[in-house]
Amino acid sequence: MKPSTPAAVNRINNRPRRRPDLTLPLPQREPQIAVPLPLPPSSATTTSSQLLPPAQQQQQQPINFSELDRMNRIGSGSGGTVYKVLHRPTNRLFALKVIYGNHEDEVRRQICREIEILRDVDNLNVVKCHDMFDHAGEIQVLLEYMDCGSLEGTHISHEPSLADLTRQILSGLYYLHRRKIVHRDIKPSNLLINSKKQVKIADFGVSRILAQTMDPCNSSVGTIAYMSPERINTDLNHGKYDGYAGDIWSLGVSILEFYLGRFPFPVGRQGDWASLMCAICMSQPPEAPPTASREFREFVACCLQRDPARRWTAAQLLRHPFVTGLAGNHSIANQVHPTHQLLPPPPRPHFSSSS
Ligand code: ATP
Ligand code: MG
Repeated sequence: MKPSTPAAVNRINNRPRRRPDLTLPLPQREPQIAVPLPLPPSSATTTSSQLLPPAQQQQQQPINFSELDRMNRIGSGSGGTVYKVLHRPTNRLFALKVIYGNHEDEVRRQICREIEILRDVDNLNVVKCHDMFDHAGEIQVLLEYMDCGSLEGTHISHEPSLADLTRQILSGLYYLHRRKIVHRDIKPSNLLINSKKQVKIADFGVSRILAQTMDPCNSSVGTIAYMSPERINTDLNHGKYDGYAGDIWSLGVSILEFYLGRFPFPVGRQGDWASLMCAICMSQPPEAPPTASREFREFVACCLQRDPARRWTAAQLLRHPFVTGLAGNHSIANQVHPTHQLLPPPPRPHFSSSS
């Protein structure tokens, strides 16, 4: 249960934890039960842009909720259901994420404020959040549609392709981290690809905007399979949790999973909490196999450091030889036989100067 008021948040944050070593994941929702009804008339719908001053409303040209047709359901996760929708006047496709539950006013206002901030996020490697509708208490987020879906289950043993994909994800993560946004749920199902071979980070359902001086985030959301050891077991780093370093661990697990074609720990990704917790917190971090190039093995090790302070930042990783490809022919000489070419040769790096 999420606290509904700032006072409740403070009360919960200040309460001593009985078992500080344990952090339980949220229970899974039953998607069939939670699939919402078809779109009702739009009269009760407020868009997030309507909460803005008139001048800004005009600049943003909000999309009218009633002009959206649901085409099909793309999938459901623990937080909501995603639909492919058509904006009739422009024939443009979008993804509409319907967030489960009818939230209390204060919680809804907080989600609206966060989504409002995320509307300003603008980077080639981050899924664009276009608008938000508060439809009779149900929150719906209008997102850029990624026509090739997520990278979940993708196997990429061809290192140059994996390096390009990694560079794109890192560019998005670097942009977010520079804006003090910690994602907190980096995993293959939140990495989306389109037919232009652009890879983008999706799903800010659990991300939070961190002020420069704010305490690091410490709540636990989503699956623990991609979470860093110190986030699962808060004893490991003296109770300190650095969300930025946490994102880098999750990135490392995801990239190694793409390379291996399987979850890199000796336990199923869907495994029970205790087995995942043992595998992630009590053993050495997984490594790339000896058949991989030295650059790739080192890159994975830079992400999967047990000590979060030793993990590289997104900015540093963007300059890693595995990503830049500037290590001569070393990586090419050692690469395993390519199974398929997922991506074209990497274009020039595209760091947003505004980021
Ligand atoms: P969880 O919520 O447990 O983290 P998830 O990421 O699979 O899991 P959702 O984020 O609800 O759950 O996404 C459901 C499905 O919709 C996933 O298959 C995801 O890849 C797809 N999806 C999400 N956003 C988009 C989008 N903008 N364009 C295309 N597909 C999307
Ligand atoms: Mg998701």
